[in-house]
Amino acid sequence: MDLTHRPRRLRRDGVRGLVSETSLEPSDLIAPIFVDATTSERIPIESMPGHERVPIDESVTRVEEVLETGVEAVMLFGIPKSKDAEGTRAWVEDGVVQEATRRITDETDAYVVTDVCLCEYTDHGHCGPLEEELRGEGDHDNGPACEHDPTLTVDNDATLESLERIAVSHAEAGAHMVAPSGMMDGMVAAIRNGLDDAGYQEVPIMSYAAKYESAFYGPFRDAADGAPSFGNRRHYQMDPANAREAVREVRLDAEQGADVMMVKPALPYLDIVSAVRREFDHPVAAYNVSGEYAMLHAAAEKGWLDLEAVAHESLLSIKRAGADLILTYFAEGVAERLG
Ligand SMILES: [Zn+2]
Repeated sequence: MDLTHRPRRLRRDGVRGLVSETSLEPSDLIAPIFVDATTSERIPIESMPGHERVPIDESVTRVEEVLETGVEAVMLFGIPKSKDAEGTRAWVEDGVVQEATRRITDETDAYVVTDVCLCEYTDHGHCGPLEEELRGEGDHDNGPACEHDPTLTVDNDATLESLERIAVSHAEAGAHMVAPSGMMDGMVAAIRNGLDDAGYQEVPIMSYAAKYESAFYGPFRDAADGAPSFGNRRHYQMDPANAREAVREVRLDAEQGADVMMVKPALPYLDIVSAVRREFDHPVAAYNVSGEYAMLHAAAEKGWLDLEAVAHESLLSIKRAGADLILTYFAEGVAERLG
């Protein structure tokens, strides 16, 4: 047998590290944290083992736990003490994320990213205030937001004003970066203008640029109490069938001044991560979502998968596809083993 090319030569111990193409570091990871203004004690999230909703008083302790693992950044989600149709608790000075951000940035060295959206703050659970949908005659193919009231949808332009106020209120509280997740057209430009006018030119925007209307978000909705009370989000989140549209969405956000481009979810959308990596020179983030976390945990509980191994392999694959940073519920566990 005369084999000139034997790739196995480079798979031996001693050399495999030298030729490894992808590395995973704790500094690549952002840990999502849920702060809940309605509770005075930690509440475990059943569908996301190891994760909890924490009261504002515990937010610093929770972030210190993350920092001990080597992860340096957190993403804050808030559950407000009350909700209304407009989601007004999202931008008030004494809001749950604003209060937690002030404490965390005062007392820790964590890099604090805040979620900028309305779905946890509106009583209907949609990502902005609602309006009657304008529909052309005979136009029945757009899909109703609601079976019971097919004329309601999120008012895009009214939502932009709210997103601007939320982002500025987070920056005032000390947030290092803001991350709008609502998939409203023009959201990055609105937030950039708002931040700049308020003197926060240095606060970067990580846009959920290509966020799909995915069934993998289920466990998060338990965690953040943000499930829509009717209908779904297909009028504003992307159709899972579309890849070229993702590149277009990212391009629009790039033009509006987004600093980091996120693809969400991650594992079922690695082709999108890879396409965004190829097309843009911005840092690319991927959100390894709650369903991706929950399914590995469920299989591991049954003894069908080795949790540590599949968690590491999942995050490595997301980096290999082209992500620079990963939001993941595995952040602490994986970082501890890397450290
Ligand atoms: Zn939302």
